[in-house]
Order: sequence, then C-alpha cells, then structure tokens
Amino acid sequence: MARWCAEQGWPVHPLASGRKTPVANCPSCKDKHHSPAMCACLSAGLPCHGFHAATTSATRIDAWWSAFPSWGVGVACGRADLIVIDIDAHSAPVPDRNRLLPGIPIHDSVNLHGLASGFDTLALLAALRGQPSPAEDDSTLRVRTPSGGLHVWYRNPHPATRFRCSTGSSRKVALAWQVDVRADGGYIVAPATRTAQGTYLREGPARLPAPLPEWLGGELVRTGHTTQRQRPPVPSRPAIPRGRRPRTAARAHRILDPLLLDVTECAATSEGAAFTQKLNKAAYTAGGLTAAGHLDEHTARALLREAAETARSGQTARNERIINDALAAGSAHPLHLEGRS
Ligand SMILES: [Zn+2]
Ligand SMILES: [Zn+2]
Repeated sequence: MARWCAEQGWPVHPLASGRKTPVANCPSCKDKHHSPAMCACLSAGLPCHGFHAATTSATRIDAWWSAFPSWGVGVACGRADLIVIDIDAHSAPVPDRNRLLPGIPIHDSVNLHGLASGFDTLALLAALRGQPSPAEDDSTLRVRTPSGGLHVWYRNPHPATRFRCSTGSSRKVALAWQVDVRADGGYIVAPATRTAQGTYLREGPARLPAPLPEWLGGELVRTGHTTQRQRPPVPSRPAIPRGRRPRTAARAHRILDPLLLDVTECAATSEGAAFTQKLNKAAYTAGGLTAAGHLDEHTARALLREAAETARSGQTARNERIINDALAAGSAHPLHLEGRS
C-alpha cells in the first residue's frame, strides 16, 4: 500500500505497529527541540517527525516496510494535494445547535432529533446546499475506519489554493460538528492499515480520490480553511503535469484569494452584503491577472463561479453575467505583478 500511494504521487510515512499515530522519534529527536527542517534524521532516511518524513522514494519505502512490515501507512495530505473529510461517529453529547455547522444558524423549527454524529451534520450541510452528502459520494475513494467513521478522500483541483486541517469541535475553524478536515499540516491513515481496533477498509467502487466538489471547496473557504502560506517546492515529488499553470500563479492567487473570500462570505447574509460589487471586483481583478498571463482563464472562471455559487446559489445566470462582464472589463487592463510583493 505504501508503494501504491507513492505511485499516486502521495508521500507516505510509517505509522507505529497497530496504531494510527506515527512511529516514535529517535532518542535524539525526542530530546532536542529542533524544527524538522533542521533535522539530520530526515535526510538520513529515518522516519522521525511524523509526516515530515513522508517520501515517494521507492528505495526508502522498501527499506522502511521491509524492516517493519507491521508498520501502518500515513499519507502527508498537504504534499499529496489531498483534502480528506474525516467523519466521526463517536458517541458524544450534541452541542448547542449553533455549533453544529459553524457560521450557519439552524432555525429552531429544524428538528434535530436523532442527530448523533458527523454523518448527520455533514448530511445537513449538504442538504442546505442542495448537494448529496460526501459520505455517499461513491465517485471518490472512501475508507471505513475501525471506529465506524468514514474518510472521504478528495484531491485539490486548484492546488494553488491551500487548505488547513481542522477538527469539528474547534471554536476557530471547523466545517461541521464531528467532521474533521485533513489537508496541509496533517496526515491520513491509508487504506489497508491495521490497528488494534481493526483495519481501515476501502468502501465502494472508487479506488482514487475525485476532485473536491466545487460546493465543498466553497464551504471550506467560507469556514476559513484556506491559507495564504505557500508550500516550499518538494524536489522528491515526481513530475506531474500541471497543465499550463503560469509560474506566477501563486502570486496571482495571493491577490485573488482574499477577494474570492469576500464573495464567499456573502453566503452568511442574503441581502445587503454588497455581493455584486464584491464579485465584480474579484472578476475584474481576475481579468487583469489573466490578461497579464499570471492566471489561466479557465481557473479564474472556475474559482469565480465557485465563490459566486457558494454565496448566491439561486442565480447562476446572473452570476455568470457579472463574471463575464467584469472579466472582460478587467482584461482590458492587464495587472502586472512586477514590483508588487
Ligand atoms: Zn529530528
Ligand atoms: Zn531523529
């Protein structure tokens, strides 16, 4: 499984035998407090520092798992461009209804009787957006956990946009109660890993992650899961064709992402949020970035649509008109990034 994951371009690292946590650090890494970037173990091929040790190198993988065949497999989500929705089914007291879906007040008339797990809160969020629940998404890799939870694996369709991890109980960033998000700075247990509680088993027909649905990407943006941090280049990563993504795309996204977020956040209020004005501004800027060659038009259009649909889903044709007009207007004024930070 470790080799198979690496063949998908996903860096892997060992999990302690029978557990879902990484193998322990070596004694020197345990004692010294140093950053993984400064650690000699990693360049020497020792699996210290959890997912920081993750690799796609077949030689290193064979060395690790032939020495310790009982080690489980972790996948470093961020470097793999994976976003995994981790649905829990723990028995826990249900919190106040306003904490079930952060940012979405649930009216008193909504009957929450029987709501018990992350499966229910995620289904509720999906229903509010008129979408099927990711738990039922058989187009993508899903993995049943020994405790009855489900990992729904997606790949990031816009890798320049980075997503952070969260836990469903967080008061700062969360998607839904009992639903965790694994992305940059996190790892996920690969299917077929055995623990004392049981084996992580693939469920349904899909063997590979599908692209993150646009609506779900919008929800992650709305709930504050995007980060501006740029990840460092990873030399060991196999060359995966990325299309004609311009080299300056990361800088373009740094300018565009906050404007898209402004649009997405209009979802919180149905009126008086200056939605049109914000969508106009984002699309006009995207047009300028596209005309200057910093962004490809397809990506720009997809991001604008996603943000607009998240905020105002009932008016697709109108959103499309605003986007078209503003993209055209912006493209008449190429936005050059030279000299901008
Ligand atoms: Zn170390
Ligand atoms: Zn070490």
